[in-house]
Amino acid sequence: MRRLPISVAALCFAMSALAAEPFDDKFRQLEEVLPTPNTIRNASGAPGHAYWQQRADYTIRARLDEANRSISATETVTYYNNSPDSLPYLWIQLDQNIFQPGSDARTTSTVASREAWAKARGEEEGMKFEGMRSILESRTFDGGFKIGAVKTSSGQPLTYTINKTMMRIDLPQPMKPGSRFTFNIDFSYNINEAKVMGGRTGYEKFDEDKNDLFEIAHWFPRMAAYYDVYGWQHKQFLGAGEFTLEFGDYDVQLTVPSDHIVASTGELQNPGAVLTAIQRERLERARKSNKPVVIVTQREAEAAEKRRATDTKTWHFKAKNVRDFAFATSRKFIWDAQGYKKGGTDTMAMSYYPKEGNPLWEKYSTQAIIHTIEQYNKYSLDYPYPAAISVNGPVGGMEYPMISFNGPRPTKDKKTGELTYSKRTKYGLIGVIIHEVGHNYYPMIINSDERQWTWMDEGLNTFVQYMAQQAWEENYPQSRGEPRAIVDYMRSRNQVPIMTNSESLLQFGNNAYSKPAAALNVLRETVLGRDLFDFAFREYAQRWKFKRPTPADFFRTMEDASGTDLDWFWRGWFYTTEPVDVSVDGITEYGISSKNPETEKALQRSRRAEEPMSVTDQRNKGMPRRVDAQPELKDFYNEHDDFTVTNKDRNKYNETMESLEDWEKALLAQGKHLYLVDFTNVGGLVTPLVLEVELKGGKKYIERVPAEVWRMSSKKITKLIVTDEPMVGLTQDPYWETADIDVSNNAWPRKVTPSRLELFKTKRGEGDMMKDFNTPLKTKTEQDKAGAPEKAEE
Ligand SMILES: [Zn+2]
Repeated sequence: MRRLPISVAALCFAMSALAAEPFDDKFRQLEEVLPTPNTIRNASGAPGHAYWQQRADYTIRARLDEANRSISATETVTYYNNSPDSLPYLWIQLDQNIFQPGSDARTTSTVASREAWAKARGEEEGMKFEGMRSILESRTFDGGFKIGAVKTSSGQPLTYTINKTMMRIDLPQPMKPGSRFTFNIDFSYNINEAKVMGGRTGYEKFDEDKNDLFEIAHWFPRMAAYYDVYGWQHKQFLGAGEFTLEFGDYDVQLTVPSDHIVASTGELQNPGAVLTAIQRERLERARKSNKPVVIVTQREAEAAEKRRATDTKTWHFKAKNVRDFAFATSRKFIWDAQGYKKGGTDTMAMSYYPKEGNPLWEKYSTQAIIHTIEQYNKYSLDYPYPAAISVNGPVGGMEYPMISFNGPRPTKDKKTGELTYSKRTKYGLIGVIIHEVGHNYYPMIINSDERQWTWMDEGLNTFVQYMAQQAWEENYPQSRGEPRAIVDYMRSRNQVPIMTNSESLLQFGNNAYSKPAAALNVLRETVLGRDLFDFAFREYAQRWKFKRPTPADFFRTMEDASGTDLDWFWRGWFYTTEPVDVSVDGITEYGISSKNPETEKALQRSRRAEEPMSVTDQRNKGMPRRVDAQPELKDFYNEHDDFTVTNKDRNKYNETMESLEDWEKALLAQGKHLYLVDFTNVGGLVTPLVLEVELKGGKKYIERVPAEVWRMSSKKITKLIVTDEPMVGLTQDPYWETADIDVSNNAWPRKVTPSRLELFKTKRGEGDMMKDFNTPLKTKTEQDKAGAPEKAEE
């Protein structure tokens, strides 16, 4: 008789058992969710033949009023309408208006619940001095743009309407497709104190030498994005969704005190007018050097700190094909630089920092910039800009084209002046520089819509940052990127899917940075493998550099270029909050019967003997029995048990063996072991299985099973594992590569989870007011000796 192969039989059974439940198809195609491909964005995820994007060129003349901490400027914008649409008005972003006392960012912000406030104990949970100061200052600070004249290039006034952080300019006549329009805006604003009010821009004041350091960004009215998917990007700036802008060329002149050093997007056009001969000579040397060359030394910067220039200098920069422009200026700046030229990249890596940043900054900053470019070039595209800058100032970490602001500094002991830094500060600095310089790729060049999707720049960038940090040193302390690092978050409540607008994200860092980075690691290491993944990921960068991709373009490119349907992956990781949790539920072993009654019946007998003796039998042991007392009662059945081989059995075996073909006999002789393993998908997110099989002889090996194993039943499946010798252990995901949130159900047999219990002594005698009252009062000197509390780490 022929039997169905075991796997087919088991499968039919599993399907019929589940037929009553509604079928949750985790592999259904994403087309029901994604926008329909068209001639602008095609079905393979590439820009279509009718792709278009707008362009805006800027000429800006700006002046820093150092004493009043304000900027005043005039800008000329030339806007190119490359769309097929007629535009009756233009929308401009006025992101500085977030600092107005009545901004939506302030009025719509909420705080933790009353219960959370009432429960707050200690520094971590409670309100800090800084938090209270920030709230009070933001209610009174005279922030936001003061818009002066808005005129056409021929001087005709234009009507405009300000809507919070947006401004609409009504055009004399609609802009036709293919036309350009030039207009001017005069504006000024007061600069926020970044350490007090927060923000991605602002000044920092140094009490010791009474100088300021300015990091200046979203400082001029900028063209809002207009594109095929959303029309005008009309989301107000609330603080989380960053800046979505058009590419263009910039010509910017910055007038600052003559003793300032300016770091800026773009290339300096007039070094002869603003740099000394020796600085220019050092810069020339830096271009060909293989380590950083100091352009302004610490000693020179410290000398500059003590003077105050009364005159000004104008620094002239030009930048081509950038989507924004930022700068930093101070007389406190130390400046070092090193050229980097390889492939299509020819750039100057440059760092600007006050003495308070040393000794960390002179050692790591410029090196970290070059490391970033080297690594990101491999995975994305050749860095195309002439400069890559890292500035130390009040902003903790923020990116702009060619320039980034990075916060970490050593700690200075108030009394001894000793400079030290923690491991966290060191790797925090290297990490933040890699991250912010890395943003040049995502989203400064691969220009995704940040105000819509934070993950498209932060997630992709954090993923490449993870790989770059791996290449910095072995065991680099990684907080994001490893699948295991996302497990606590995946277990947490109040999650939203990655595909959620930037302003509505809960658990922002985990949602938009860590989870996409971990997901891409799973995709690279576990789902696709490095070759397929790296090719597709680079293809995405190549297709979309200097263009504006949407999520669908990323998803489709990764599938198209890897030749793999990943709809299940995007659906699970990006559109749901389900976690991975696979449980190994049960295992049944099948040996293949030899059909030989001598072997098989002996085996059955030994199985029976292995069964535990019943309690009754145990207790009746030694009991006198009738058949023993009267042996004449015994017969054939007392001599032969149920497993006795009969001649009938032997004849049947011989007949069977004669009827078998040679290959069938050989198969019987192989003696394979079959294991039926039940897996339950407890978490819901479908995942590849990574099975570590341990054999009796000690050998271990891995079987990798693609996620499609769940395609007919996403909740429960049974797999057949065939081994040469008995299997003694099975572990699902032995390397923790799938972000499984509960590994305690991953092993068969189950493993004990080890931990240590800390016992605490009961505190007695606290709150004895009588004793506290009698404690002698300390003098001022005694208090000083005890030491002031340490300044908190950045
Ligand atoms: Zn970032």
